[in-house]
Amino acid sequence: MTRDFVKEWETGLIRLAPEIYAYVQAAGSAGISNAGLVIGPDRAIVVDALATSPMALDFLGRIRTVTGLPVTHVFVTHHHADHFLGLQNFLPAQIVSHSLCREEILRVAPDVIERWSKGHPQLADGLRGVRICFPDQTFEGEMTFHLGDLEIRFFHLGTGHTRGDGLIYLPRRKLLFAGDVAFHKVTPQGFHGHIGNWIRIVGTILEMDVEIIVPGHGPVGGKAELMEMRDYLLWVYNEAKNCFNRGLSESEAVTAIDVGPYRSWAEAGRLKGNIERSYSEFRGELPI
Ligand SMILES: [Zn+2]
Repeated sequence: MTRDFVKEWETGLIRLAPEIYAYVQAAGSAGISNAGLVIGPDRAIVVDALATSPMALDFLGRIRTVTGLPVTHVFVTHHHADHFLGLQNFLPAQIVSHSLCREEILRVAPDVIERWSKGHPQLADGLRGVRICFPDQTFEGEMTFHLGDLEIRFFHLGTGHTRGDGLIYLPRRKLLFAGDVAFHKVTPQGFHGHIGNWIRIVGTILEMDVEIIVPGHGPVGGKAELMEMRDYLLWVYNEAKNCFNRGLSESEAVTAIDVGPYRSWAEAGRLKGNIERSYSEFRGELPI
């Protein structure tokens, strides 16, 4: 990497390659997610639609500063509201996701806006009038998209952060839009995931020919930042396993485990959900 994105925690529309941009929002906390843009010879594609219409419209405004081409596709990395509730602003673009991401959006749709408005009051204004849009094209293992002569691989490695995680890889640029499979400098949230498999998925990414990783939350980084996140997941997983083996309940484990070195990361309180999800896994309740 030529620039230290992490040190700068640069926000806004950031050029990463001649035709590729990250759209990074500050803070990286719940509801404040990142997105991406890839510009081809006659069209552009967007990665994720953000949480609210004002956020999506700001992103679209920035897109218009670098290209006048139509956005014809939005690739949705997973079903969490802060990545898909802005979709209506990109219509009539085609919405593409993993089949399980679509399934999860259909599942949460009936009350997702109400829950998010209550749970994140700062977003409530921006969620007013949102119409939920669903992916209209899905894939299973992997699909390849050709934007001019630029190859974009949209693929799934099983449940990590959520069941329907889709990773977007641009081999020529050694660049990965990881969605929330990557959190940089922000506590990862595993309450819908499979932490053991998430750790394995990160191992697979670390073996790929990747230099730049755009996370779902936090600054643009690379393998060093992804490894740092994996260290957190391994730490939670091992601490929870120790407590589980000692017969501690989930609530006792939450009290016993000190968040320690990760206290400075945003959303440190996600430790509780990560411990509870690890316990579900140890009890054999979670399919991969
Ligand atoms: Zn998420």
